[in-house]
Amino acid sequence: MKDLEVLQAIEAEENRQRYNIELIASENFVSDDVREAVGSVLTNKYAEGYPSKRYYGGCACVDVVENIARDRMCKLFGAEHANVQPHSGSQANMGVYQAILQPGDVVMGMDLAAGGHLTHGHKMSFSGQTYEFHGYGVNKETEMIDYDEVRRMAHELHPKLIVAGASAYAREIRFDLFKEICDEVGAYFMVDMAHIAGLVACGEHMSPVPYADFVTTTTHKTLRGPRGGAILCKKEFAEVLDKKIFPGIQGGPLMHVIAGKAVCFGEALQPEFKEYAHQIVLNAKELAKTLEEEGFRLVSGGTDNHMVLVDTKSVGLTGKKAETLLDLVGITCNKNAIPFDTEKPYYTSGIRVGTPAMTTKGYKEAEFRQVGLWISEVLHNPENEEILEKVRKEVRDFTTNFHK
Ligand SMILES: *Cc1c(COP(=O)(O)O)cnc(C)c1O
Repeated sequence: MKDLEVLQAIEAEENRQRYNIELIASENFVSDDVREAVGSVLTNKYAEGYPSKRYYGGCACVDVVENIARDRMCKLFGAEHANVQPHSGSQANMGVYQAILQPGDVVMGMDLAAGGHLTHGHKMSFSGQTYEFHGYGVNKETEMIDYDEVRRMAHELHPKLIVAGASAYAREIRFDLFKEICDEVGAYFMVDMAHIAGLVACGEHMSPVPYADFVTTTTHKTLRGPRGGAILCKKEFAEVLDKKIFPGIQGGPLMHVIAGKAVCFGEALQPEFKEYAHQIVLNAKELAKTLEEEGFRLVSGGTDNHMVLVDTKSVGLTGKKAETLLDLVGITCNKNAIPFDTEKPYYTSGIRVGTPAMTTKGYKEAEFRQVGLWISEVLHNPENEEILEKVRKEVRDFTTNFHK
């Protein structure tokens, strides 16, 4: 690259990704093949429309790419129709909302404070500003979704749509129970599986596809593809959905990213990916067990998926302080509100740690046990410079030597 200013920043980021332990639950490391596709000449091509129905000439080659992506995604999840054009998970959600809702319609989604996503009705998001969202949360005792409470709300509010899915929820979501509730009140059912798509693809989490009218996702989290979004739906909604994505809310699709999605779906169809997804869950359970043994309180008492929510107040720290301390030693995670959090969103009472990225790098239970011990050592000794320096060095040596 001739632009040294940008190149330096990219190289610095490359080093950060190499030497830090990446525990952000929504991040991953894509394969060289995915990067090759995303960095390819397809970025030069305009292709408004859909395969065989484009508004530009010269689309024969990109048509092949988009058809591969759609076919593989349908095969991977056992779905009837796929739209692989959404630029992001948020755009995928916007597309579905616009396809079936009118402004002001009543919708139920999981509260951001309980683990939901901004696009599930937060006041600062288009979703909360356009539709009348009502948030459901988790049970105060179990810190898990209270399906009786969801049912009670649904019967009272008569929503046109119920949204299931979360960004910070460590337990299995019972899509079958949500579907029952939707049927009782005549609501559409949308599942946003952004975080868990890779687990769903491999049977490590219950699939929403048999139950939901629409399933939205990102492709860059557990699915380990390029940054982007995608939507699955039943055939009956295919036309209205496709029209909402283009020309409804987007212009030209990012064909280089769609090529990356096609490669990602191809990888996820391989047996190795099944092993990978299984290992993600084993690793999360090991990390949870280690942290619990070390005296941390875990939200909901454990995990069924790829993440662990840690109540850092159980060792006397805000989430912000814990995030900063771990950052100092080369362990990257994010502060996260926990259910019924009493701290402001900027501080929070917890951190969210996930296993997808380091599982890609080859970590198994033994490595995640070590990561848990480092987290414990740091967060139990927040003022001890010597210990922080010792752990920082251990992390650096470990990440340097791990892939020899
Ligand atoms: C990450 C996420 C999204 C949004 O994805 P972007 O690509 O960042 O817009 C949507 N929903 C859920 C549940 C997510 O976790």
